[in-house]
Amino acid sequence: MAQPPLRIGHLYAEEMNIYGDRGNILTLSKRAGWRGIDVRVEPIGRGPSPDLAEYDLLFWGGGQDRDQELVFADANEHKLASIKEAVAQGSVVLAVCGGYQLLGAYYVTAERQRLPGLGLVDLHTEPGARRNIGNVLIDVPGLGLEPPTLVGFENHSGRTYLGANVEPLGRVVKGAGNNGKDGTEGVRAGNIFGTYLHGSLLPKNPHFADLLILRALARRAPTELAPLDMSVELDAHQALVRRLTG
Ligand code: GLN
Repeated sequence: MAQPPLRIGHLYAEEMNIYGDRGNILTLSKRAGWRGIDVRVEPIGRGPSPDLAEYDLLFWGGGQDRDQELVFADANEHKLASIKEAVAQGSVVLAVCGGYQLLGAYYVTAERQRLPGLGLVDLHTEPGARRNIGNVLIDVPGLGLEPPTLVGFENHSGRTYLGANVEPLGRVVKGAGNNGKDGTEGVRAGNIFGTYLHGSLLPKNPHFADLLILRALARRAPTELAPLDMSVELDAHQALVRRLTG
């Protein structure tokens, strides 16, 4: 039987797309496409939502505070119920930076405006005195990633705090991560992944891209991913690991 297509919904593709976050969509599309998997990417803007449970993977990227204000309001008004349904049906969610902040209870902007989030995960974000900017290396145990690390670039003023029973995506080796204090970076809850890592994230973390593709496809039918050479991408990954730990 032919492999079903991989359906990707790119939420707020226009409003939330900084530091090359669109590169994540390209990586997912390419890595699936190279395996002969048909990929459909649809941008989802503001306004009434399509049925988001139709998508195997929902992605949204980072944004400036003023864009987040628009997006948070729209997401709460038009997308929340549909996103919840998608999550309940096993869709994978990858949210970066401003999008990650949207997963939580609220985000307080640098100008002290409190934006209610979607409340999908128990976390919240407060403003920090200065921006955290720079390369990041995190250890990611428990997901079966090989190598068990992710690299990326962070640029955020928000400090995110996870609820007591919430698991971070990884542990900071270099960089600030969630808040620069507790050593956590990002979040994972079932198939929901949030992170501060731009870069964009997935081009230098092809093993993580494959994990997301596999989980996204597996919600429809048991699936295996054909192996794919990732030596070039992992060279880029390891070069950054060496620079940050050397
Ligand atoms: N505006 C948010 C912050 O500064 C998110 C920034 C981003 O998405 N890069 O924390």
